[in-house]
Order: sequence, then C-alpha cells, then structure tokens
Amino acid sequence: MSLKEYVRDIQDFPKKGILFKDITPLLMSPEATNECLQILIENLKNKRIDKVIGVESRGFFFATLLAHELQAGFVPVRKAGKLPFDTVSASYTLEYGTDTLEIHADAIQKGDKVLIHDDVLATGGTIKAVCELVEKLGGEIVQVNFLMELTFLNGGDKIAGYERFAALQY
Ligand code: IMP
Repeated sequence: MSLKEYVRDIQDFPKKGILFKDITPLLMSPEATNECLQILIENLKNKRIDKVIGVESRGFFFATLLAHELQAGFVPVRKAGKLPFDTVSASYTLEYGTDTLEIHADAIQKGDKVLIHDDVLATGGTIKAVCELVEKLGGEIVQVNFLMELTFLNGGDKIAGYERFAALQY
C-alpha cells in the first residue's frame, strides 16, 4: 500500500468547504509510520539538530519520533495559555481574526540548530509564526518539514527563506 492510501480525506471538516486530510489511519499502522519517519530522516542526513519543534497538536506525533531518532530534544509549540512556564508568543492571521502560538522561553538556546515539524502545510500561516518564535529565541532553523504539503495553497511562499521538505505532496 502506498503511503497516501493511509491518509483519509474527510469532506467538510472542521467546516463546510474544507477537505481535511486525516492521518489517524497512518498512525495506526506501524509500517506506514516507520516508512514516513524514514523518509523524513533520510532528508536530514548529515545535518546536526539540537531541538525538534512539534506544533500542536498533530505535529507532536512525528516530532517526538524525529527527536528520538535524531537524539535531539523535543520542544512543543502550543496555542496560547497551554504552556505552564514563561513563554514567548507570536500571532498570525486566520480567515476571521488571529491566533497565537507560544513556546517556553527557555526551550531554545541561542545558536541551537532547530528542526520544525508539523503534519500539514496548508496556507503557511501557522508555520511562519513558529519560525518567528524560534528566531526570537535565537534558534537557527535547519529545516521545516511536514508529513504533507498541500501545494495548491502555496503555503511554501510564506516560508520561502527556509529549507522545506514534505514526505507527501498533494
Ligand atoms: P496553515 O496555517 O493554513 O498552513 O494550516 C496548517 C495547520 O492547520 C497545521 O497545524 C495543520 O495541523 C492544520 N491543518 C490544515 N489543514 C489540515 C488538514 O487537511 N489536515 C490536518 N490538519 C490540517
């Protein structure tokens, strides 16, 4: 079975007009999960990574696996108000209004080599805010990677200055 067969399309979720890519079937398969992990790892060959950032919440799954494989630290980026210690925040624009993401202020040391991971690159607003957070703390972004990129939404344009990789393209 190809990896794409483990990604389920859900029409009109979370709201009408959105075709949601559901990765839970992929997560249920150890073989598909491992294949995906190896594709992401292969693309990081010979790169030093100190911290892997996972974006709430579906970014956490593979970010922790990647951190373990790379023997790097795992750092969560979460929605405002969820992290218990001192935080740094960045806001980004949604279709209606704004959203805010936070990272612990002590999560990254100046000069840390950072890998940022999320499940899906759609319009790119989320990941751009995450890049801002990492740079506010003095981290050096080595790569931004995803399980999948929805190329027709051109989210890559928002993070054009960074190395980007996705295991699957739509
Ligand atoms: P963006 O900010 O528009 O690039 O949206 C990316 C964020 O929304 C990521 O954190 C994703 O988890 C989530 N997202 C957007 N579209 C999908 C989807 O089809 N499936 C799962 N998550 C999605």
